Amino acid sequence: MKIARIELYKADLPYSGGVYLLSGGRQYTSFDASIVRIIADDGTEGWGESTPWGSTYIASHALGTRAGIAEIAPALLGRDPRQVDRINDTMDFALVGHNHAKSALDVACWDIFGKSVGLPVAELLGGGSGKPLPMISSIYAGDPEEMRRRTADHRARGYLGHSVKIGALDSEGGPTLDAERIAACLADKKPGEFFLVDANCGMTVETALRMLRLLPHGLDFVLEAPCATWRECVSLRRRTGVPIIFDELATNDASVVQTIADDVADGIGLKIAKAGGLTHSRRHRDICSAAGLTMSVQDTAGSAIAFASIVHLGATVPTRLLRCVANTDDMVTLKTAAFNARFGDGGVIPPDLPGLGIEVDRSVLGEPLTIWGD
Ligand SMILES: [Mg+2]
Repeated sequence: MKIARIELYKADLPYSGGVYLLSGGRQYTSFDASIVRIIADDGTEGWGESTPWGSTYIASHALGTRAGIAEIAPALLGRDPRQVDRINDTMDFALVGHNHAKSALDVACWDIFGKSVGLPVAELLGGGSGKPLPMISSIYAGDPEEMRRRTADHRARGYLGHSVKIGALDSEGGPTLDAERIAACLADKKPGEFFLVDANCGMTVETALRMLRLLPHGLDFVLEAPCATWRECVSLRRRTGVPIIFDELATNDASVVQTIADDVADGIGLKIAKAGGLTHSRRHRDICSAAGLTMSVQDTAGSAIAFASIVHLGATVPTRLLRCVANTDDMVTLKTAAFNARFGDGGVIPPDLPGLGIEVDRSVLGEPLTIWGD
């Protein structure tokens, strides 16, 4: 089997909750998705998506994603899409870094791989647990009581995990407001729920320590991505007992290994596009499993195509280490594909269909921006 044709599409994904507020005054109303369709010489097609969280989250952006795909795509023509590690070698030889560009291409190859052998991607990744995967909400930063209401809304919709966004600027209320946000969101905590308090690198060590001292005693949460730099996170780690989760600072094989070597975090946010696709995410899953780190399987942003890859990977994370999967599709209003996952019993289970198990709605994608190959 050989890759005969690659098509690149663009889609605008409006945020389903209006305006999303992140630390440092960052705001988002929609996400620019790059979607790839790879067609093999026997007609088998695979889909992949890469959607950065705007241009101000990690070092990736949509225009760069598409420029990177253009740099890589010609080198993939004629390659066997089922040789996913060799596909990644080829991509790395064509372009250094730029994980977001590689992710959509990598995931599309996994989709083809699954279809070629009649198995779901989760089975190729080692086998799904068969258990419902708990889903995590995304509670953007705002007024504490209003955040508490949004947490309750997600709870009512079956979400077991809650990602509570903090990182108020001093002009917005600083550590005092953030402490009030955490206390409000945890006020109605139910058994079995868990809370990731996520500053998205928006705090200094000083503001983080001040905030932790302002909190009521006994709140059960982990602190995700408190500070922007490795040094700051190491410093905070040494001076607090709160469990730390890495996200923006754990982006590739080397930084995931270093997270463990430095014992700087107790878990990671495993985002597929951030890692460069399922091939590297699989590696991060195994490295973290060996070290006993918990994982939240997510993506930077995305539609149903991204959610499908999240669910397949999430199903293969050891149950005791899996904190949650993120339903990116629920966060955007454009439906790019039908993904027939099973929902219920506190989570989601991937469909027992070949590949990603999605049916892409090509009518919402329009014509491809670029075509490589026949
Ligand atoms: Mg995060």
